[in-house]
Amino acid sequence: MAYVITSPCIGEKFGECLDVCPVDCIDEGENQYFIDPDICIDCGACQAVCPVDAIFHEEEMLPEDEIYLQKAREFFGAAQ
Ligand code: SF4
Ligand code: SF4
Repeated sequence: MAYVITSPCIGEKFGECLDVCPVDCIDEGENQYFIDPDICIDCGACQAVCPVDAIFHEEEMLPEDEIYLQKAREFFGAAQ
């Protein structure tokens, strides 16, 4: 399980989430930030600080946002 960054981050990218993640698993993509779902420890710290409510737990996000989990997997998979 992991937290996932969704569409409100696009074009926003303030990066507050990056500063609070205790395991440093958030990275900047081309037009949004991504959380590495294999490293995220589900602490919720990033969700608490996101000013645009872009971050959701995998189990709580809307079905149409599941594409963002896919994008995160692709982003970190491609970076390896
Ligand atoms: S805090 Fe929210 S808007 Fe800012 S980079 Fe993180 S997910 Fe995107
Ligand atoms: S839930 Fe915690 S571990 Fe996961 S990305 Fe957010 S701050 Fe990092």
